[in-house]
Amino acid sequence: MQPRVRAEIEGNCKKVREGKQSLAEVIEKCTSFFKERFLFFSKNIDKIDMIFDKLYKPLSETGKRLSHCGDCKRYMLLINSKLPFLNCSECDKDYKLMHNIESIKPMNKNCAICNFEAISFKQGKFEIIICPKC
Ligand SMILES: [Zn+2]
Ligand SMILES: [Zn+2]
Repeated sequence: MQPRVRAEIEGNCKKVREGKQSLAEVIEKCTSFFKERFLFFSKNIDKIDMIFDKLYKPLSETGKRLSHCGDCKRYMLLINSKLPFLNCSECDKDYKLMHNIESIKPMNKNCAICNFEAISFKQGKFEIIICPKC
């Protein structure tokens, strides 16, 4: 929380103490501020997950090496968040994967179009092979 929010709340408390503003008014103002914030974050929780994954944990620690990047030939990391994706730290690019992946493995074969290593994953009873880029 930013210090100015706290400063404003403290300022409002002072006004209540001095009788310049009613307690109910201040409470209403504060709760609607936090309610708004809460609704905003709830709506954007997927984005926030992705941002936090990137900000707070080095990718090399959260991810497992999975398959090769077609551009730089290095390993890309599998990042397990609500929306899983592959990250190439060399190219600084993310490649989104599907939801609800149960297991995933590299295919040791490259895509004929872009040269990225194909990956195979299980979703329910289906096994699906895709190119992470195409
Ligand atoms: Zn790359
Ligand atoms: Zn491809």
